[in-house]
Amino acid sequence: MAMKKTRNLFIVKGNEELVLSVLDKLQFKGLSVFKEEQISTEIVKEVFRNNKSVVCRDVADESLKATAIFIVVTNVDSSYIHCIQTSVGNIAEQFEHIAEKQNCDIGDHKSNSSGLVEAPKRSDCPYCRYIDDGYCDIDINLHRTLYRSENFFVMPTIGEFIKGYLLIIPKQHVMSNAELPLEIRHEFLSVLEDVCYMINLTYCTSNILIWENGSGNGGIGKAKTSIVHSHTHVAPSKLDADIIEALSDFPFERLSYEDLHLYGKNSYLLVRGRNDNDWRINDNPNLYIPRQYVRQLLLYKDYILLPDGIWDWRHYPFVDKIKETCLEIQTALLAHWNELPERIKNNTKDFLPRK
Ligand SMILES: [Zn+2]
Repeated sequence: MAMKKTRNLFIVKGNEELVLSVLDKLQFKGLSVFKEEQISTEIVKEVFRNNKSVVCRDVADESLKATAIFIVVTNVDSSYIHCIQTSVGNIAEQFEHIAEKQNCDIGDHKSNSSGLVEAPKRSDCPYCRYIDDGYCDIDINLHRTLYRSENFFVMPTIGEFIKGYLLIIPKQHVMSNAELPLEIRHEFLSVLEDVCYMINLTYCTSNILIWENGSGNGGIGKAKTSIVHSHTHVAPSKLDADIIEALSDFPFERLSYEDLHLYGKNSYLLVRGRNDNDWRINDNPNLYIPRQYVRQLLLYKDYILLPDGIWDWRHYPFVDKIKETCLEIQTALLAHWNELPERIKNNTKDFLPRK
């Protein structure tokens, strides 16, 4: 299987009244819906630039049309390949099913029940509960903190499909690192340096991908099951920021980590390049970024021999790999204890297994 496609063109045909009633119901995060009789090539291209798919009644451009997925709307039984029957079942679900068969990513449905309508509280936050419980994991019954500084802690991620994949999490309940004051962001950079050191020490690689999905706007509008408390992903990978940019085909802006606070309002995707100071961001609120997007790229463009679909941490927590990562990093730390930088010794010693 391959990664699901964004930037698809769906053309919906049939009785005008029925078609319009169907278009009304297609409120998905990765779709732009147009009710006009026909739309221009420019409109389609603009939607594609935002990584979304188009649903419309017709396009003028024949070459675009040749790539379109045609859907017929009817109120009777039909033998069309892609068909939405208005007389039976849920229309949005029928559309989702067609998109699924075509391996298209249309995003979550924008219903009130699926999105957060107010900022999530500390008491609902799994990371805050983890901190409040003294770093005992309530969900998977496992200590998994490896490192703790004044304002951050580090642990393997749930959904550890690659060994050595760590999260850097601020102790403050913030929606993104952009909300942290400058001096704490400086501390973050030293924690990141230590985390890369530990991964390199244990797994002998300096090919490490670093990214953060910042949830702007107090987390409002994110999927209810999202973890909005800021966390930065650090994973061994051959992918770098150039490859991510090329694969994504949407523009990233270069920025200094000192200026990250300017990007706290919207959701963003932040990626670090190979160079320490090479940070890149896209915070365009119209851009559609698929769920766990970089994790999907990791699986489908780097760890291509792993099974399909395992990027989704909700279904594949990989508890065994969490334990293995903890054990392997701690073993490497102990084996090289005398040569470790003092800061790493201080910040890891409380979590090392007792002899
Ligand atoms: Zn929290």
